[in-house]
Amino acid sequence: MALMKNLLELFRVDAQVRGLRGRLDSSKRYLDAQNRLLNELEQRMQEIEARRRQTQAKIGNLESETQSCDERIEKLREELNSAVNNKQYSSVLSELNTVKAQRDELDERTIEEMSGVEELDQELEEVKQQIAERTKVRDHAQSEYDEREREIRDRLSELEEERAAAAENVPEGELEVFNDLAEQYDGEAMAPLEEIDRRHREYACAACNMHVPFEQVSLLFSGSDTLVRCGACSRILYLQEETRGTLAQK
Ligand SMILES: [Zn+2]
Repeated sequence: MALMKNLLELFRVDAQVRGLRGRLDSSKRYLDAQNRLLNELEQRMQEIEARRRQTQAKIGNLESETQSCDERIEKLREELNSAVNNKQYSSVLSELNTVKAQRDELDERTIEEMSGVEELDQELEEVKQQIAERTKVRDHAQSEYDEREREIRDRLSELEEERAAAAENVPEGELEVFNDLAEQYDGEAMAPLEEIDRRHREYACAACNMHVPFEQVSLLFSGSDTLVRCGACSRILYLQEETRGTLAQK
């Protein structure tokens, strides 16, 4: 009998510890998710900034190419003016036209790259706005988490001490079974025995609804210190007061 009483006490305190931790866990998960989203946005901003720098460098190169073209054009114009014969004139003119065409092409490319910078600036503006909004959400999540943590810190350490004390009252082997099941079933290591039909001696595990053989039920009612576990889900079975009562009336 003592074993079952101590196990139920452990079960009760363990559920309280888990419940309290669960409240903190969910706000921690939310906070982590916000931080992840914020990191993604910041990464995106850095990518856009890198692309912008590359495009600016390209524009710089195009501009210096354009300048050389202009210098060349200037020189060819002078040569054109001082041409001594038709042959020389038309040869210089032909080169001048080629360089002018190159310059036009450079202009076009420069304009294209510049509109690329404008687009990147717009993207940058959008992502910065998203970062500002996300930062607000994250900061709120952080303060919510901090507040919850402060609220429950003392109660949680109290309960954890209580849990440790309750665990000390359970023998090592049974404690291991309990802990494994609690891990597996998120704290639900024990399940009440449910009476389906007393006359037909039908009982079931209240957690998984599987039938529990009457020999096991008898063992449980006998109050022996042997663990009775559900054959299907392995949870440790226990009697609730009302179930115990009905058998007593029999
Ligand atoms: Zn079960």
